[in-house]
Amino acid sequence: YLPTIYGITPTYARLTQKADLTRLSQTLMLVKNFHWIVIEDSDTKTKLVENLLKETPLKYTHLNMKTQKSKHSSVLDVNICIYKTSAISRWYCASGVEQRNIALNWLRGHLDGIPDKRGAVYFMDDDNTYSLKVFEEMRKIHKVGVWPVGIVGGMRIEMPLVTNGKISGFNAVWKPFRPFPIDMAGFAINATLFLIHPEAKFSRKVQSGFQESEILKYFTTKNEMEPLAENCTKVYVWHTRTQKPSILNPKKLKHPPIPDGH
Ligand code: UDP
Ligand code: MN
Repeated sequence: YLPTIYGITPTYARLTQKADLTRLSQTLMLVKNFHWIVIEDSDTKTKLVENLLKETPLKYTHLNMKTQKSKHSSVLDVNICIYKTSAISRWYCASGVEQRNIALNWLRGHLDGIPDKRGAVYFMDDDNTYSLKVFEEMRKIHKVGVWPVGIVGGMRIEMPLVTNGKISGFNAVWKPFRPFPIDMAGFAINATLFLIHPEAKFSRKVQSGFQESEILKYFTTKNEMEPLAENCTKVYVWHTRTQKPSILNPKKLKHPPIPDGH
């Protein structure tokens, strides 16, 4: 028996989107019993993502939900992304909050309607790099499994520390005071638990870097977490980030460019 892996991926329009989604989808084609939930950060579903999904042999669900942005720091609506006006604080708007939440609601409805509610839920950025081995690890999960993540938080490897098979701490240096100082790519959750905890969701009430802690608090404690990837000694996922390309303005070029649409 192979539990289904539900991969939840928020995505947004940008120059590298198709390249990132192509690379990720072709990794996912090698994963058995995988269901990809892709949520576009937009008011409508785009042709680009729709066509890309249609062309894959993957089992998928295509959703969309635009992040609401507000310039008014007085706005207290937790569903709106606020940017701070003070000189020191920069834009802060956690990405993927509403998108992951609608994916979780879709998942609850889906699991309600099917007899086999088993599976693992993995929150996957569209530009990370995933070894097939990380998916094998998450099929072992009872409640919440954790593992190291490469190139994140200012470190080569950010990882849970394991003593006698239990999580004794974390090596994170970026905001180590977080309840769970780990990246989204470093854990997966038993899908059935989302039915047991219908209230579990991400929130805009928390500061940057606390989304992982926000969702994990519903399901686990440090002592309960299951160390995977050979007791957290192996790196099977990397928080790679695709560089934003700079494209030259075709109007300023001496010679006519190759037409668009490729
Ligand atoms: N994302 C999004 N809307 C945005 C910015 C990001 O849906 O406005 C998605 C993005 O496609 C990715 C996830 O949210 O799947 C995390 O964003 P990103 O990779 O930019 O975060 P970082 O790697 O910088 O932590
Ligand atoms: Mn990323």
